[in-house]
Amino acid sequence: MNCTAVKKERPPSTQLSRRKYIDTRRLRVIVSGSPPKATTEKLGIPEDLILERKRDDPFDPRPREGYLSWDDYFMCVAFLSAQRSKDPNKQVGACIVSSDQIILGIGYNGFPRGCSDNELPWAKCADSGSPLDTKYPYVCHAELNAILNKNTASLQGAKMYVTMFPCNECSKLLIQAGIREIVFYEDKAAPPVKYSSPNEAPGSDIRQVDAYAASKRLLHLAGVKLRQHQLDRPLVLCVGVHAEKKDIVLNADAT
Ligand SMILES: [Zn+2]
Repeated sequence: MNCTAVKKERPPSTQLSRRKYIDTRRLRVIVSGSPPKATTEKLGIPEDLILERKRDDPFDPRPREGYLSWDDYFMCVAFLSAQRSKDPNKQVGACIVSSDQIILGIGYNGFPRGCSDNELPWAKCADSGSPLDTKYPYVCHAELNAILNKNTASLQGAKMYVTMFPCNECSKLLIQAGIREIVFYEDKAAPPVKYSSPNEAPGSDIRQVDAYAASKRLLHLAGVKLRQHQLDRPLVLCVGVHAEKKDIVLNADAT
C-alpha cells in the first residue's frame, strides 16, 4: 500500500518571519503572571497582541477583563491534553465537563498502558500492506481515555469538549456513557476524504468517510447535542516567562 503524503509549505523559521506571521493572524496572547513590559519585549511578543497588562493601580476594584470563556477554557484544556500524545500525525484531546462546569475526565490519543510507544507502529499506512503495521489496531482514542479516566461514578448528562469530531466507535462509547453534548473543534465529516483504503478508517474496518457519517447518524438518533466551537481568534498562552531558575526539589529527608 502506498501512502502519498502532501507536504505543506511552512514559513521560514526565522524570528522575523514568526513575528510577521503572528501579526497577520490577529492573535490573543495571554502571558501567565502578567509580567512587566520589559519581559514580553525580550520574548518578542508584540505589545498590541497582549490581552491584559498588570494594573498599576492596586485600588482598582474592577474584575479582570479578557479572561477565557467556559467554551474557550475547556477547548484549550482539550488542546493542551492533546500535546501529551506521541502520535506524530494527529494529536487529539478530550475533556469531559459536568453541567456545572467541573472537569470530570481528560484524555488524549495513545497506546494502552504498558504498551511501549517504541514497540508499536505510529504509521498511518505501511509498505507491508498489513494493518498490523499501522497505528489503527492499537491506539486508544482521546474520547475513550477521557471516559476511562473519569473521576466520578457517572458521566450521565455531561458534555465533552474534543479537538476532533468523534469517530463512530467513540460515539458509541459517548452515548453509552451518558454524554449529552459534544463540543468539537474540527469537523471530520466536512472535508473531502483523503484516504479510501478500508484499513485507514479510524480503528475500524470501514472507510473514514463512512465512519464519521455513521458517527453523526448514531449521535443524532441518540439525541446528543452537537456544537462546533472554534475560538474567535487564535489564542497563544505564554507560560514560564519568569522561569529563570531551575525547579527546586525539596527532599523531606534532607537534614
Ligand atoms: Zn474515536
